[in-house]
Amino acid sequence: MIRVEHLQKNYGELQVLKDVNTCIHDGEIISIIGPSGTGKSTFLRCLNLLDKPSGGAIYINDVNLLSPDTNVALLRQKMGMVFQSFNLFNHLSVLENVCIGPVKLLKKSKEEAEQRGVELLKMVGLAEKAHAYPDQLSGGQKQRIAIARCLSMEPEIILFDEPTSALDPTMVSEVLAVIRNLAKKGMTMAIVTHEMGFARDVSSRVFYMDEGVIYEEGTPEEIFEHPKKEKTRAFINRIRDFEYVIHGVDYDLYELNAELMAFCGKHFQPFKVQHNLQLLTEELLQVVPLSKGAQLTFSYSEKTSELMIELFLPGLTELVLGAEGEKEPDMISMSIINGLSKQVDEKLETNGVRIRLELK
Ligand code: ADP
Ligand code: MG
Repeated sequence: MIRVEHLQKNYGELQVLKDVNTCIHDGEIISIIGPSGTGKSTFLRCLNLLDKPSGGAIYINDVNLLSPDTNVALLRQKMGMVFQSFNLFNHLSVLENVCIGPVKLLKKSKEEAEQRGVELLKMVGLAEKAHAYPDQLSGGQKQRIAIARCLSMEPEIILFDEPTSALDPTMVSEVLAVIRNLAKKGMTMAIVTHEMGFARDVSSRVFYMDEGVIYEEGTPEEIFEHPKKEKTRAFINRIRDFEYVIHGVDYDLYELNAELMAFCGKHFQPFKVQHNLQLLTEELLQVVPLSKGAQLTFSYSEKTSELMIELFLPGLTELVLGAEGEKEPDMISMSIINGLSKQVDEKLETNGVRIRLELK
């Protein structure tokens, strides 16, 4: 359906895309992952000519998008795009947002457009908001409207550029659920995303972008379980980890818990695991001195399904958990910690103490 050959894009001296080659077939769901600044958005924007490529060729159903006699407007209509920042018209109602394209560009009658508009709003779960205005909606609802609006133009492929990264953690899943539904219906999609769990179970293929090219591509299993190249491996491992810095005793427990929730969501951890992880973390932070700050790292291994917590306490010169005597840690907290973890390791290092726990 789409064939990309030696695609290049420079911004002045900066070579963002050096040589991108790929094919996207009908019905495929491609996730595009990679560090920020590696040209993922640029790639999507080049695909539908929001950005003019500096070189190479893009074919859609064998029509060269870059040849001067191609009807670009028509081809672009076949490619919907959903952005991080919704881009709804705030002065139009939800239904009007969804109908304006079909009426103006597809020359549909108002009735026909509205009928289809209502169906699409139903599909994204927002039929009851048809007459509301974007300002009255949450971020997750706005993004679902943006998806409905995109579908109203009857695209053959939808390009998503980080559709959930502007959303609060609680709203990510409602948007991902809509995208999952589209996947089930066989919609062809290319999705730039940081939601690795989602990318893993929704995609047919994953592109890892780096160094101006599609650095590695493969099935989700190949990319997430057995990445072949060093940079892919480093990225996959890094994204699995989540770090949280604690500056002192008055750290923000609510923020930490919200981020932990998002971390668990990313890896599709059930509620109970999430709850235990939060509890274990909270108890652990109760029994260690935090006055010099601390660094928390959470990591999850999909291979072994292990959830690890690592806590580094800088500046400490003696162990805390096993300590006896007057500073003996709270016994209730300690028994919760021991009850929830498979293993507790504590190690004295030259510049502090490192504690590692594995959740049961
Ligand atoms: P990603 O989406 O992977 O984070 P982008 O495609 O947004 O990366 O950007 C890739 C690189 O191109 C970045 O270094 C960015 O600063 C640069 N870039 C993107 N858009 C422009 C632009 N319009 N003008 C100049 N530089 C740009
Ligand atoms: Mg981007």
